Amino acid sequence: MPDTTSTGYQGVANSAYEPRVPIEVPAVFAWPPRPVAALAWTARLILYPWVLLYLVLSVVIWRWLLPSEATMATLQTGWIAGIWFRNLVLVGVIVGGLHWRLYVRRAQGDDFKFNSRWPTTGAKFTFGSQTRDNVFWTMTSGVAFLSAYEVLTHWAYASGLVGRPDWASNPVVVLLMATLGVVFVSTTHFWANHRLIHCVPLYRRVHALHHRNPNPTPWTGISMHPLEHLVYFSGFLVFWVLPVHPLVILMFVMYDGPGPAPSHSGFARVRIGRWEVPAGDLFHQLHHRYFEVNYGNTQMPIDQWTGTWHDGTKATHERLKGRRRSDQEA
Ligand SMILES: [Zn+2]
Ligand SMILES: [Zn+2]
Repeated sequence: MPDTTSTGYQGVANSAYEPRVPIEVPAVFAWPPRPVAALAWTARLILYPWVLLYLVLSVVIWRWLLPSEATMATLQTGWIAGIWFRNLVLVGVIVGGLHWRLYVRRAQGDDFKFNSRWPTTGAKFTFGSQTRDNVFWTMTSGVAFLSAYEVLTHWAYASGLVGRPDWASNPVVVLLMATLGVVFVSTTHFWANHRLIHCVPLYRRVHALHHRNPNPTPWTGISMHPLEHLVYFSGFLVFWVLPVHPLVILMFVMYDGPGPAPSHSGFARVRIGRWEVPAGDLFHQLHHRYFEVNYGNTQMPIDQWTGTWHDGTKATHERLKGRRRSDQEA
């Protein structure tokens, strides 16, 4: 019988909002197989509001804003600067917009907020404040590395270094690759690089910068040390050996660039008009709180297979006691 009433997380987070636990492993990984539930989970993933938004933005960029293959065949300042500026705007508007609504206007107070505390100040932060620190690392190193990997990947295809696949003319396959394929590549790569940088001394020298934020906000998403950006965005290199359609590359830009903003937002849901859009990710929120659990994402449950899956229940909280580190120790 799953423990659905008490959350180990709730006990320490001092929040009025009680997230639903346990966090479950997706039905596609269930054994024995549950085909109907698996199909429903897959459909929900494709129709997830943020995935739809990223898909629309990717199509607009691909159709009207991406330079021609002839232009991108040679590395030149003009189009490279254009992609960097577009990513600056993209990240600034999506991440900044969420932050403005949730943390500046506080439009929904602490409704759906995982942690009752708000962004803080202190000497551990660059410029002495969590928000200024996170904005700085995101908009400088974060956008630069995101853009560099994107530029080099477009160039690899445009210059003929990597060929386009046969399926690039099949819209159904392109759509599946741009949604399910990107989620699979991004989450698997994220688990691997994240697990690696939790090893001492990489943690202390590199990843501790991201973990300055036990109580994350949208700006925390890609607020990382430049060496972490170098590793985190290296997922683009998968598309150097596994040829894809340009839309898939653009979806990867969305998923790894502004994508971590909603999941780090600190709010399970964001109210937009009459809608309550799913946003925050309790699974990763628990990682920011306890560090040595939940290295990956729920969509690719490697943590379940390696024994580090914190499902938010009190029972699991007790079982993983030895692995946890409090934010005071970080
Ligand atoms: Zn994080
Ligand atoms: Zn971490």
